[in-house]
Amino acid sequence: MNQPAIITDQLTFDFGALRAVERLSLTVRRGAIYGLLGPNGAGKTTVIRLLLGLLEPTSGVARVLGMKTTHYGGDIRRRTGALLEGDKLYENLTALENLRYYGRLRQMNEQESLARSQELLVGFELWDRRDEPIQTWSRGMRKKLAVARTLLNRPELILLDEPTGGLDPVATATLYSQLQEFSVREGTTIFLTTHKLSEAEQLCNEVAILYAGRLMAEGPVAELRALGAAPLLLIRGDGFNEAMVALLARRREVVDIRIQPHSLLIELADADTHISPLINLLVESGADIEEVQRTNASLESVVMRLVREKKADQDIALAV
Ligand code: ATP
Repeated sequence: MNQPAIITDQLTFDFGALRAVERLSLTVRRGAIYGLLGPNGAGKTTVIRLLLGLLEPTSGVARVLGMKTTHYGGDIRRRTGALLEGDKLYENLTALENLRYYGRLRQMNEQESLARSQELLVGFELWDRRDEPIQTWSRGMRKKLAVARTLLNRPELILLDEPTGGLDPVATATLYSQLQEFSVREGTTIFLTTHKLSEAEQLCNEVAILYAGRLMAEGPVAELRALGAAPLLLIRGDGFNEAMVALLARRREVVDIRIQPHSLLIELADADTHISPLINLLVESGADIEEVQRTNASLESVVMRLVREKKADQDIALAV
């Protein structure tokens, strides 16, 4: 009975020549709210699809609720609730009709489905709007309904892929606190993906960080956050290049630099660093800067540090 909700062992998946998930071993205990964190393209969605048995691993094994994903995908999908990217609600149906329709698909009896739909709509503060076709709803309300739907037949485990994608921080916080209430009250295990560390902190008691398909770290959020306490400078704009990185890397106040799509991320040695010389240097080198933001303890800073440390370990291993 105390078997973990999810166990993966050396789970690997290739899209042709691209290794999307590499030897991933993780354990999610029953009742946990577990966040799989990672930047875009890290492999998070692929992991969820593997766990639901929608993709066949290239190698390695995953067990969900004790069932091997390669043999029991259908049973896993029946016994869990899932929210995948692009999952649609029925726009012409009302909120209540959407839930009841889903209840029928899940072969719940009508009375039970109605009672549970009511409970969820009340819990997620959607009851007053239950009879409106959801096409008139805001994005936040639809997301809430989509998340509520995963809980309809009281599954032991729900898997949510970026459940707060496109939501503002207030809508995110509300959704998370309502979700948390249900999970705690009903003992539901939650496995969710996000690329925002601050969000994971609100909800998850354990997180794993995935980067380029690899598990970089796993543990309580506070521990991982401490890893990323380094001060960061996020510079949004365009035209960043390797020559600029080389120039910046020579400066004492710069610890690390990464070019990202439409932004440059600089780890600073000190939170009080005077940043205008760095910005001037970039502008003089031709960068087109739109916005400069100081930040710390973000997922980016944790990932940056972990990648740097892994690389240092590899360099040491190569040198001996
Ligand atoms: P995001 O946060 O942007 O949704 P993610 O962490 O969920 O990203 P995945 O969608 O799992 O990442 O993608 C992991 C890698 O696999 C990426 O490099 C992606 O381009 C690649 N990939 C995903 N789906 C396919 C596919 N159908 N065919 C080929 N490559 C794919």
